[in-house]
Amino acid sequence: MFCSKCGNQCPENFIVCPKCGTKLSTNASTGNKKLLRNLGIVSIILGPIIGFLVAVATDPNASTIPDEAVLYWTVIALIGIIVGSVLISSSKK
Ligand SMILES: [Zn+2]
Repeated sequence: MFCSKCGNQCPENFIVCPKCGTKLSTNASTGNKKLLRNLGIVSIILGPIIGFLVAVATDPNASTIPDEAVLYWTVIALIGIIVGSVLISSSKK
């Protein structure tokens, strides 16, 4: 994390900034933001994976992936990426 006063990069487990002595914000909102960001990353990763699984599940016997399966895949992947981006951007506020 970064010190809010001098901008010094401090290790996560530090309570005060080693450079200027300012108390570092280790409150609950920092944890929530981290959780939001992690959820965002997870949904960006899981979106395409779940989309792929759905696409394969639509016709497991097909030798090529049907067009509608590609559509499902694209839509689910996009939803995952959009939701993930929203979560990550809201974690930065
Ligand atoms: Zn500092």
